[in-house]
Amino acid sequence: LHNLPKEPLQVDDQYTELALSMFIALEHSSESTYEKICQAIQKCFPDVGLPSFHQMKCLLANLSGITSVANHMCINSCTTYVGPLSNLKICPEC
Ligand SMILES: [Zn+2]
Repeated sequence: LHNLPKEPLQVDDQYTELALSMFIALEHSSESTYEKICQAIQKCFPDVGLPSFHQMKCLLANLSGITSVANHMCINSCTTYVGPLSNLKICPEC
């Protein structure tokens, strides 16, 4: 983590700010949970346009400068799926 923003995040519209607050508050909840809450809000307030889960991930990455890194490897860290192993879906060790 280098050169992180030092000032509070600025979001221009209230619906995006609402979605961002929900996204952050839900922390480790599933994408489905986020989408279901958005649907519930939009059922009560049809004019509210909330960003999708994917759009929120992109927005948060843009605002914070922090992006996810995908490692194609065994969950137990015994094999990386690169080179001749790049087509593997299951770890040959475990
Ligand atoms: Zn493994």
